[in-house]
Amino acid sequence: MRDLASELLIKPGTRVRLAKIDPSNTHGKHKDAAIPQLTKNLDRLSVLQYRLYAESKRSLLVVLQGIDAGGKDGTVRHVMSGFNPQGASVTSFKVPAGEEKQHDYLWRVHKAAPKFGEIGIFNRSHYEDVLVVRVHNLVPPAVWKKRYEQINNFEQMLADNGVNIVKFFLYIDKDEQKRRFESRLEDPEKNWKFSRGDLEERKFWDDYTAAFEEAIERCSTPCAPWYVIPANKKWFRNLAVSDILVHTLESMKLKYPKPAGDLQKIQFE
Ligand code: AMP
Ligand code: MG
Repeated sequence: MRDLASELLIKPGTRVRLAKIDPSNTHGKHKDAAIPQLTKNLDRLSVLQYRLYAESKRSLLVVLQGIDAGGKDGTVRHVMSGFNPQGASVTSFKVPAGEEKQHDYLWRVHKAAPKFGEIGIFNRSHYEDVLVVRVHNLVPPAVWKKRYEQINNFEQMLADNGVNIVKFFLYIDKDEQKRRFESRLEDPEKNWKFSRGDLEERKFWDDYTAAFEEAIERCSTPCAPWYVIPANKKWFRNLAVSDILVHTLESMKLKYPKPAGDLQKIQFE
C-alpha cells in the first residue's frame, strides 16, 4: 500500500516547484477503491477524535489553503464531516475587518486556535498574510518578508504547547480552475459561488504560484508540515486529506485518561 502521508509531505528544507508536481496525479490509487477507503478513514477519524476529546490535553489544527476554486470548502464538507461537531470548529478567514484591522496579523489567528481536546480547521489562515498580501502589495515587502520566520516561530510555540498542526495546500491547475468557474456559471446550484473578484485574482496566477511556493518551502517544518495535495480530482483530494489526518492523529498516540481509583470497587445502592 502506498503511503500518501510520506509521498505528499514537503520535507522540511526542500525546494518546492509546483510545476514539477502533477495536480492530476492519483499516486496509484483508483476511484473505485478510494470511496470505501474514505468511509473507513472517516470512521477512524471519529474514533481518534473521541480519544483526543477524552484526553483533552492537546489539540489538532488543520490549515487549508489553495487558490480560488481549489476545493477548500469541498474538503471541509466531505472530510471534516467525519468529526463530531461537539469537538470541532471551522474558522474562515476573510479580509481583515473591524477589530482585526487594529491588531497584528496573528492576533485573530491565535484567538481561533483550537482548545485542548478539539480540532480546529482553518479555511484560509495566517498564510494569507504572505499570499494575497504579498501579491497585491498590501504591506511593503520589508514587512511580509519577515513573516515566514514569524510564522515558523508562532507555529513552533503552538506545537510546544500542545497544538499539533498539519497544513494542506490543495493544488489545482489553471485549466481545472477554469472548468470549475465555468460550472459555477452554468449550474444554477453553483451560481452563488461565482465571484467576479475570483476572475480578477486569476490574472495573478503566476504571482500566487510564486507566493505559495515560497510559503510552503520556508514554512514546512517538523512541527507543522505542509502537504501538497494534487486536487484536480476531488475523490483523490478527499482520500489524501483523510489519510493524512488519520496518520497525524495516530502519530499523536492519544490515550484515554486513566480512571480515578479502582472502578471495580465501586458499588451502587
Ligand atoms: P472566500 O474564501 O472566497 O470567502 O474569500 C475570502 C477572501 O478574503 C479572499 O479573497 C482572501 O484572499 C481574503 N483574505 C483572507 N485573509 C486575508 C488577509 N489577511 N488579508 C487580505 N485578504 C485576506
Ligand atoms: Mg472566493
